[in-house]
This record gives sequence, structure tokens and C-alpha cells, in this order.
Amino acid sequence: MIDLRSDTVTKPTPFMREAIFNAEVGDDAYGEDKSVNRLQDYCKDLFQVEEALFVTSGMLGNRLALLSQTSPGDEVVTDYSYHINFFDSAAAASVCQVVLNTRHTENGILTPEEVEKALDSKPRYHHFAQVKLVSIENTINGWAGKIFPFEDIKKLKTYTMQKGMLLHLDGARLFNAHVETLIPFSEYARQANTLSVCFSKGLGAPFGSMLMGKKETIEKAKRYRSWLGSGVHQMGFYASAALYALQNNISSLKQDHVLAALLAEKLASISELKLETSPSGTNMVQFSLTKPGSNCQNFLKRCQEKGLLLFPWLPSKIRAVVHRPISEKDILKAVQIIQDVLLETTLSKKLGKE
Ligand SMILES: *Cc1c(COP(=O)(O)O)cnc(C)c1O
Repeated sequence: MIDLRSDTVTKPTPFMREAIFNAEVGDDAYGEDKSVNRLQDYCKDLFQVEEALFVTSGMLGNRLALLSQTSPGDEVVTDYSYHINFFDSAAAASVCQVVLNTRHTENGILTPEEVEKALDSKPRYHHFAQVKLVSIENTINGWAGKIFPFEDIKKLKTYTMQKGMLLHLDGARLFNAHVETLIPFSEYARQANTLSVCFSKGLGAPFGSMLMGKKETIEKAKRYRSWLGSGVHQMGFYASAALYALQNNISSLKQDHVLAALLAEKLASISELKLETSPSGTNMVQFSLTKPGSNCQNFLKRCQEKGLLLFPWLPSKIRAVVHRPISEKDILKAVQIIQDVLLETTLSKKLGKE
């Protein structure tokens, strides 16, 4: 089975399993897990941040960023397509008790102008919701892994600072952006009040994210982590996998990007498909079926029966994500399966079967 649903399906390699097996652990509730401390210190150094907190998931990282930087009833400006809204708006409402003011930007890039529109979309009398935080994403999942241009992040940082708002950067796939831009991680971290990164995406670790920022903010986040029942005792087994991923798996993300570009190129030449975004330069491709009346669900089902898994982002929009250990051979096979399924659909239509 060629699984292109997400880069979260990656499994630990034998070397990573060895790192897990050999992990030095202790009780993290007492701050005694050496592997967790080592990972957090490594991130503090790599990202040049005051504090780093290892958390169970990217969603928890985002949630803690909201909880530690807002009060109930506050407003957070973001783009509708970003993970924090698209997948996680229910938690923003129920757990974080904030209102998301989402923009439908033209290209996935939340600019100061867009934030200003959100800010000015209603009066801001003191009993109204106040915008405390702006949340962005890099790379942008809903835009097929597009890189949020660094200059635009800087502009947003300047703008939010002027307005007394905070900026959260959901960097679940910041590593993918980094291998293309070569901008140091510390530069990215400097532009945001809080930054989270995922080890469980293309880096291939089984679990975990790092939330980083000023000491005071991360101390608060740590309390909320415990309140949400996500203090894990011997978390070092996972921390060693994450540290292994950080030290060994960043540069090979480039290979995923090369293969995603190949996939995009092949799919672009199929007339029954339309690429939904221009190739992003990272590890994803999004496309839709163009034939009138074509049925996305049937298409995905037939692909699965032939050995290819894809992810329905929306009923009309399909996502493919390249990740280790997908090879060039897998990509060519995937394209062949897609072509075969499209052909059989055309034939069965001609024969009046559908
Ligand atoms: C995957 C992802 C998350 C959530 O990470 P989990 O570890 O699956 O909770 C958050 N933000 C973005 C942009 C993601 O792609």
C-alpha cells in the first residue's frame, strides 16, 4: 500500500527504535526525565528561545499557545484554512474559550492588511471581544505545504507588536520550510511570541511537539498541560525519538520535496485532474477531479483498492503528502494507479454503467 494521506503515517526506523530503547528516563513531573530535558535544552539552543516544553501533540501545542496568551472571550485572528481553525476550531471554543476570527485570504498568506480588516470588522468597545493573538502556519497545510514567506512573517510581527497583539507560529512543518529557505530556526523563533513544531510529521518520530517562547508564557503553558491531563511521566522514550529525528532527519526532507514536485508534474499532465495550487516546493500536492459529475469518494475508494491511499481535504479536494520512505518508484506507481482509475471511470461511463 502506498500511503500518501499524511506525513503522520511515518513509522520509527530501526535506528530510531534503538534510540527509544536506550532512552534514559525519569519522572518528568519532577523534572527528572533526562531525555526530555536533553530534548528541551537542544530546542532552546537550536531555536534560541528562553523556554521549550515537550507536549504530546501539535494540537496540544496550539491549544497551550492559545490558553497561555489569551483569556476566555478573547479573539484570535487566523486564516480559515490553518489547522488551528480547519481541524481544531471546536477545541478553540470549548477548551480555550476564545473566538476565532477567520479570514479567507486569496493565497493563504495572512497579511497585516487582513488582520486589520478582522480588527475593524466590528467595534472594539471594552465589553466586546478583544483581539489578543494572531495565529499563522508554516508551511501551510491547506495550501499544499506552501511556505509562508519570511518577509511576510516579519511584517506581521512588526504589525502585531505595534497593535499590542501577540503572534503564534504553528510550525508543524517548519522543518520543511527551513530546508528550502535555509533561514535559521532562531530567525523564525525571533518573529513569534510562541512557536510550535511537530516531530511526528515528516521527521518521522512517533509522537510529540515542542512549544517554545518566553519563560513566563511557557510556565503558564505547563500548568495548562497538566490541567488537561497531559503530563506524561516517563516521556523520555518519546523525547529520544524526537531528538533522534531532529539530529538525523531534517536534511532528508528535501528528498520528499523533490518527489512531491515529480508527483505534481505528472499529475499536471493528466487532463481529468486539476492541481489546486501551484507546486509548493515542499512535500504536498492538492488536486481535484475536473470531469463534470466525477465522484471523489468513488475515486478514492478505487485508488485504495488498487493500493493507493489519498486524503480528502474537502469532498472536492484531494491531498497527497510525500514522506519517508516513499520512493520515486512509489510516486510513479501512484500516478499509474490514478491514471488507471480515471480511465476505468471514463470507460464505465461510456458503457453506461454509472
Ligand atoms: C498536524 C498538524 C498539527 C497537529 O499535530 P498533531 O500532532 O497531529 O496534533 C497542527 N498544525 C499543523 C499545521 C499540522 O499540520
